[in-house]
Amino acid sequence: MPVAVTIDEIRAAHARIAGHVVRTPMRQAPSLSQGGPSVHLKLETRQTTGSFKLRGATNAALSLDSAARGVVTASTGNHGRAVAHAARTLGIRAVVCMSQLVPANKVEAVRALGAEVHIVGHSQDDAQEEVDRLVSKEGLAEIPPFDHPAVIAGQGTIGLEIIEELPEVELVLVPLSGGGLAGGIGAAIKAMRPQARIIGISMARGAAMHASLLAGKPVQVEELPTLADSLGGGIGLANRYSFALCRDFLDEVILLSEEEVAAGIRHAFAAEHEIVEGAAGVGIAALLAGKVRPSGPTAIVLSGRNIDPGLHRRIVEEGVAA
Ligand SMILES: *Cc1c(COP(=O)(O)O)cnc(C)c1O
Repeated sequence: MPVAVTIDEIRAAHARIAGHVVRTPMRQAPSLSQGGPSVHLKLETRQTTGSFKLRGATNAALSLDSAARGVVTASTGNHGRAVAHAARTLGIRAVVCMSQLVPANKVEAVRALGAEVHIVGHSQDDAQEEVDRLVSKEGLAEIPPFDHPAVIAGQGTIGLEIIEELPEVELVLVPLSGGGLAGGIGAAIKAMRPQARIIGISMARGAAMHASLLAGKPVQVEELPTLADSLGGGIGLANRYSFALCRDFLDEVILLSEEEVAAGIRHAFAAEHEIVEGAAGVGIAALLAGKVRPSGPTAIVLSGRNIDPGLHRRIVEEGVAA
């Protein structure tokens, strides 16, 4: 099977989105580098809109067919926010379809960016049906959250930047949901440094890509509330790109309990002064839980910072998991 997203497409995406997205810093994490290999944090928490999703959304929006009457997407929040921001920058209409599981702060953030929000059903699949309707009835172009070559190439630009900052990287820890982020980063890093290991990390509650990789094909899992809410949702039974990329480029997938996700958020704040949402703390959490042991220079992608401030405070101060 041919590789759906090449290193050349990722390089082209990097040039296309430069000037529209932040080249985020990467820095060593002293608290995670004691007595072992150096561990570095790639701070997509500092990306405009608060997550890496702006990279893929911007690359897709800049690659749009000129006949499109605007853009539409289903999203757990961060992708919707990114699409809204990219559309506003380009002066086009944006509609974002979300399930009722999405936290209120994320819904409001999308509205504040000027997008229309349609709230539909209880799962990512329900939201997707509304997207399909708007594509066929209103001529909008879909920018999916992960299963799209331009979106994946945009997320893969993080892999290019990791290699530029840390050419000797041996291990990359990437939050894993639909697999656009891990697939894109995997494609970039394996092309330039094949010996580096790429590990995807999900919460145990509703890990759709993990279940699909085990089954050898996309499968559905029950969507459950989790502290790592940005990792919720299915991969789509008709998945075309991200499943194959994750199958080909991920060396391993690790699952975390809710307590372990909370410990990642807490450590990021207390020891590294970084505010991360649950989905973004999973790399640190996997190290803390002893579920992965770095054998060389390690990069952890902190994928976003969009967590409800009250929830963040409770987790940090009281040690409450949910
Ligand atoms: C979307 C998202 C992820 C997962 O990305 P996928 O491409 O769906 O695997 C991880 N972290 C954050 C903060 C996200 O918004």
